[in-house]
Amino acid sequence: MIIRNVTVIDGEAAGPLADAEVVVADGRFSAIRPATGPRPAGGPVLDARGGYLVPGLWESHTHLGGFASAKPEHERAAYVSQLLTDFLSAGVTTVVDLGGPLDIELAARDYRGKATDPAAGLFFAGPVFTGVRGWPVLDDPARAPIAHQVDDAGVAHRQALELADQVDFIKCIYDGEPGAPDKLPLDALKAIVAAAHEKGKKVLVHVHERLDLEEAVAAGADGIEHAFQPQDPTSDAEARDVAALLAGTGTYYCPTLVTWEQLAHNGEAGYLRKLVDGGFAKPEDLPAITSRPLYGHEFPRHSARDSHIRFDYAMRTLALMHDAGVKITAGSDVAMLLPSPPVALLRELHLLAEAGLPLPAVLAAGTRHSAEKIGPQATAPGTITAGAVADALLLDADPYADITHLTDRAHHIGTLRAGRASWGQPAA
Ligand SMILES: [Zn+2]
Repeated sequence: MIIRNVTVIDGEAAGPLADAEVVVADGRFSAIRPATGPRPAGGPVLDARGGYLVPGLWESHTHLGGFASAKPEHERAAYVSQLLTDFLSAGVTTVVDLGGPLDIELAARDYRGKATDPAAGLFFAGPVFTGVRGWPVLDDPARAPIAHQVDDAGVAHRQALELADQVDFIKCIYDGEPGAPDKLPLDALKAIVAAAHEKGKKVLVHVHERLDLEEAVAAGADGIEHAFQPQDPTSDAEARDVAALLAGTGTYYCPTLVTWEQLAHNGEAGYLRKLVDGGFAKPEDLPAITSRPLYGHEFPRHSARDSHIRFDYAMRTLALMHDAGVKITAGSDVAMLLPSPPVALLRELHLLAEAGLPLPAVLAAGTRHSAEKIGPQATAPGTITAGAVADALLLDADPYADITHLTDRAHHIGTLRAGRASWGQPAA
């Protein structure tokens, strides 16, 4: 199949290629080149309507298994599958689950393996590693299946070796007072990283403060999850130090801005109005959002006040981190106040732009950098390049001219998922 009448933004360093033709064969891009003439050889032609083809988006930090665990057991795999379908219809071709019950993840993968309808691809961590009664288990026995609660490096190493064979990467929670029993011990974190790397898997580490981040990087973390909570919010010094560390070590940084935004504004009608004004919710979505059990209740462990500080600080300093060379990735984590998980990712991309990232950097965060964060397990590289799995999003306007061209679904014409287009029928 050949896609014509299109401008290609390949998601790598190359600038937009106007009037291109994109050849897709066996679910992969096989050529991206200037249009050759009125009737190219090589199969059916699909008209891209003068649009912009960008790599399919990645949601690189969510918890589908967590969303599904509220459902009856026999419905969970189908529910995750439905979410993956919803993600695809929002332009997201790959979803990365950063921690959840392994049985749900495996059942969802099995379910998708047998399904024939298109949906976003899924990568997952399975249970996270944390301290004893550490975040996010705390004292809730119902949350035990989402974590290995560890107080011993030898045990952690064995468990990580075993888990690494079943999952795409390893997730650790490194959050809490140094030395407290609910914090993963540093020697256990190091042992988990060693085990995962021995198995060729990346390790992504959730952090709270800057010290957590520095220790996680020193332990060999491949990615840091969440903007850190600053000690002194009035100074950019911590952000500059962290930026130098992350850029120098090539460690990926997923700030989950929309998480801190939601935790800071939970229960505020003004925030919901802002989402409506920005096109991230419709007025008719609001009753369902305000009737959710968490609505208006302070999130455990993360106060609204601290989340506010964390959000404002990350928004102010993210551009300087990008300028320093930090590889930023896009992930939303929670969708407490947004209509659905896919919309939370679109909101995250919007916030990355609002924080001052150049729009090509926003696209890289939502595509290539997120694929790189998962490493060799990622079957699609988040680029439109020859040989890559043909995952893409077709927009009706230039995403480098205005972020809404990427984040407002009114600008989405359709998706390409492993070579299957959701718009139009190719002419013979
Ligand atoms: Zn998370």
